[in-house]
Amino acid sequence: MSRLQDRPVTDTPLRILFAEPYDAAAVARMVEVGDVTILESCAAASLVGAVTDCDALLVRTGARVTREVIEAGGRLRVIGRGGVGIDNIDVEAAKEHGVQVVYTPAASTDAVADLAVGLMLAVVRQIVAADGLVRSGRFAEGRKSLIGPELGALTIGIVGLGRIGKAVAKRCQLGFGARVVYNDIVDPGRIDFEATERTKERLFGEADIVSLHVPLTGSTRGLIGPDTLATFKRGSILINTARGAVVDSSALAEALDTGTLAGAGLDVAQPEPLPAGHPLLGARNVVLTPHVGARSPTALARMNEVVEDVARVLAGEAPLFSAW
Ligand code: NAD
Repeated sequence: MSRLQDRPVTDTPLRILFAEPYDAAAVARMVEVGDVTILESCAAASLVGAVTDCDALLVRTGARVTREVIEAGGRLRVIGRGGVGIDNIDVEAAKEHGVQVVYTPAASTDAVADLAVGLMLAVVRQIVAADGLVRSGRFAEGRKSLIGPELGALTIGIVGLGRIGKAVAKRCQLGFGARVVYNDIVDPGRIDFEATERTKERLFGEADIVSLHVPLTGSTRGLIGPDTLATFKRGSILINTARGAVVDSSALAEALDTGTLAGAGLDVAQPEPLPAGHPLLGARNVVLTPHVGARSPTALARMNEVVEDVARVLAGEAPLFSAW
């Protein structure tokens, strides 16, 4: 096991590897610090080969920074992840080897919260189906059949009342007048909206809409599976803008098919993308987006700021946002 201060410091120029796209200003910032290489593919084999003589590795969502990648990077001092979830990085292995992991935890809070609420509205008011009916000349049929509740009439269950969970809860409670219940494994601290704590069991049985905002960890992988779905309020809706693997996709498709759930809004799914023929692609009242929660200009710009923390670590300074 090596500690950060024991990482070899060489006289050769610092080498920085971008394994996924960053904006030109972020790349230019790293050029000020050292020699920059930009990989065309973040596939495991190319990462392992390219990281060997690098001091810093920059990734986003797609690259899997496994123990093998970290151990191949004998000179590696910092991994920068422009984004929020760090489940694509083996943080334990990085810590063992003294490699700092820096990221941008607050970059996309509002962007993801907006999308989560957008998915809620799209599902409860069947906006995608309505669009299809108008385009196919079935206007009158749409007016007759597409009746959905107001968000303010519903109970919204937030699982994971962290940054994004709070932003969603606030929009739902203060913006729409909805009743909010939540579950978390830690005390969420001060909240400036009304929300009532519930056990998961009680929340699933009570909420008209369950919105997931937990990180992907050992305790959240498969959290929403056949057993939990069976405890959901009949006719409720699931929104997942967290991580696909928090939900068992096949069990969700089954719950939609049997009517346990009336709909779902999914920005993330497992696997991602869902393969052709997957039952969720044909399920009734499911609105799917291609993992775009964080893709607002403001959030994307903030994610590029991870290069500043990478520069800090390479200069021997403490980063602002470190995963360990
Ligand atoms: P956060 O750390 O601020 O909040 C997560 C909350 O979940 C914490 O309060 C934590 O205590 C709670 N939690 C953890 N395990 C739990 C469990 N088993 N049961 C209940 N609560 C639990 O993180 P955040 O900024 O709110 O982001 C949440 C997640 O959203 C990220 O980890 C990421 O996976 C996902 N995300 C997705 C996108 C997207 O593009 N769709 C973008 C950004 C983030």
